[in-house]
Amino acid sequence: MSTVTRSVRLTGWGRTEPTVADVAEPASADEVAALVKGVAGGGVIARGLGRSYNNAAQNDGGLVVSTAAMRDVLSFDPDTGVVSCEAGVSLEQLMIRLLPAGWFVPVSPGTRQVTVGGAIGADVHGKNHHAAGSFARHVLSFDLLTARGDVRTVTPESDPDLFWGTAGGMGLTGIILRATVRLKRVETSRLVVDTVRTANIDDTMEHLSSTDEDYDYTVAWTDCLATRGALGRSVITSGNFATTREIRFKDRVKPLEFKASALAGAPPVFASGLINARTVALLNEAWFRKAPRRRTGEIQTIGKFFHPLDGISNWNRVYGPAGFRQYQYVVPFASADVVRRSLERISALRAPSFVTVLKRFGPGDPGMLSFPMSGWTLALDFPARTPWLGPLLAELDEMVLEAGGARGSRPSGSVQLRLVPPPGPVMAEPVTVRPASAAARQAPRRPPDSNEVTRDDCVIMGLGRAIVHVLTIATFAATAGASRVAVFVIWKDPMSYRTPHPSRSWDRAYCGAASRRLRPAPASQHLNDLGCDEARRRSQVAVAVPDGDEAFGCRLVIPPDV
Ligand SMILES: Cc1cc2nc3c(=O)[nH]c(=O)nc-3n(C[C@H](O)[C@H](O)[C@H](O)COP(=O)(O)OP(=O)(O)OC[C@H]3O[C@@H](n4cnc5c(N)ncnc54)[C@H](O)[C@@H]3O)c2cc1C
Repeated sequence: MSTVTRSVRLTGWGRTEPTVADVAEPASADEVAALVKGVAGGGVIARGLGRSYNNAAQNDGGLVVSTAAMRDVLSFDPDTGVVSCEAGVSLEQLMIRLLPAGWFVPVSPGTRQVTVGGAIGADVHGKNHHAAGSFARHVLSFDLLTARGDVRTVTPESDPDLFWGTAGGMGLTGIILRATVRLKRVETSRLVVDTVRTANIDDTMEHLSSTDEDYDYTVAWTDCLATRGALGRSVITSGNFATTREIRFKDRVKPLEFKASALAGAPPVFASGLINARTVALLNEAWFRKAPRRRTGEIQTIGKFFHPLDGISNWNRVYGPAGFRQYQYVVPFASADVVRRSLERISALRAPSFVTVLKRFGPGDPGMLSFPMSGWTLALDFPARTPWLGPLLAELDEMVLEAGGARGSRPSGSVQLRLVPPPGPVMAEPVTVRPASAAARQAPRRPPDSNEVTRDDCVIMGLGRAIVHVLTIATFAATAGASRVAVFVIWKDPMSYRTPHPSRSWDRAYCGAASRRLRPAPASQHLNDLGCDEARRRSQVAVAVPDGDEAFGCRLVIPPDV
């Protein structure tokens, strides 16, 4: 029996950029394979629980394979903590099933409502990155349905390129059907937590740096609107799993008990604008004052320590229909001043990040597109309609890239991403990603079979000339009937071109596309934001993010077969 598909309007967790796709919920690997085999031009992408922020698991006009019905734990070894499961099993399900046996997920993001497939696809990190790395480090193998329609069992040893291209590869190399993961042994399901309130950013960073070794899990919640001497004041919570002797006597009867607490739901309708500079300043003040100056040895549950936001399902609705934009960057430890400068800009512009989190990452894993690398990481959630948000994020991009960091779950600006035309219906297999290191730059450019675009392809020009060029190219593309010609207009340094309301115009103006069949690209502040979904949608459009300080870049991407 063929799997039913239905047309669904999808967004990521931030609820921005909705698109419509055919969504199927196959219940087995065979059904997934049949779906992929029969897929037409729009391609296919996997979707877990849709907890990623931007448009990672959407595929406008194409097919989205939800793994919601693939939720079986296939095998588990209670001695080694090695579990094999289908890709749609959530981290919460693993906790419910395996905590009673004394095993916890090796890495947990700030929500446990993510699937194992999604955790590998985004190579998620948690509060323990400095100690345990990101999720893929604990994955022993996975079964991947590739573009050719075959299922490959991939391990880091058997096929390191495919393994590390898939880990953090955002679903671009195929659909993960099953995975085998090594869990972490715990004696109880409670944590011993220390809390400290810090006065400012120096204090916060000093405390985080000096306690790295003491805790497996650490995070600082930071007041992004605090100014002057209080800039970067934070509440730092750090913890380790408790031993049986450390928990309360009454809890020792069931030391590994885990209650996936019933979630309260947020009302369906919130007005846009509820989260604004005033309300966030008030909430920050209350949160900061409520926290103890210093408290040690508090026993907390997994839910309270790791997933406080899971307490309310659909909490993303509080941002109203316009949704919110998550922005996270990492910069090397030597560039700690970027954290200070970015907080200064955010508080000066009164940009209300509802959740602002500062952490220290340990060394990144070999995932080609994995986000974490050694350094400071700041995560921010802004209402999508925050005034000046576009220019602010572009300015943060500049600071981060200049410092040799990375932002979003994408690599730094000097990384090029090449999508080779796929042999089968899945859109991007294999993905080749290489940093534009000195060696890479010297490598032969433009291999005949690729549509790779590099920085050198950018034409740097003034605005007037650029407009003429773009119009010429658009006219040419339209008259030639090209179906896969895209022109990207990249404004690399918007802050130097101020207008009275830059955020509004920039949001629309950064990216334009010209072609008979392509619709204009969605609002985007930066070429980075086009990301995987756009690249996939345009099938053969290569995306390269230029580094350096170009003011304006215009590029034409014509796949070889046009
Ligand atoms: C409250 C909250 C807190 C968060 N905290 C963190 C955090 O601390 N650290 C962190 O790293 N992330 C964090 N995230 C982001 C989240 O962990 C990731 O985006 C995760 O990938 C979501 O998993 P998902 O199952 O919902 O996948 P989706 O959002 O549905 O998909 C994510 C990506 O994985 C791909 N994918 C999904 N399933 C498969 C599959 N079977 N095969 C191949 N590719 C697949 C998709 O194509 C997509 O590109 C947080 C999100 C929320 C909402």
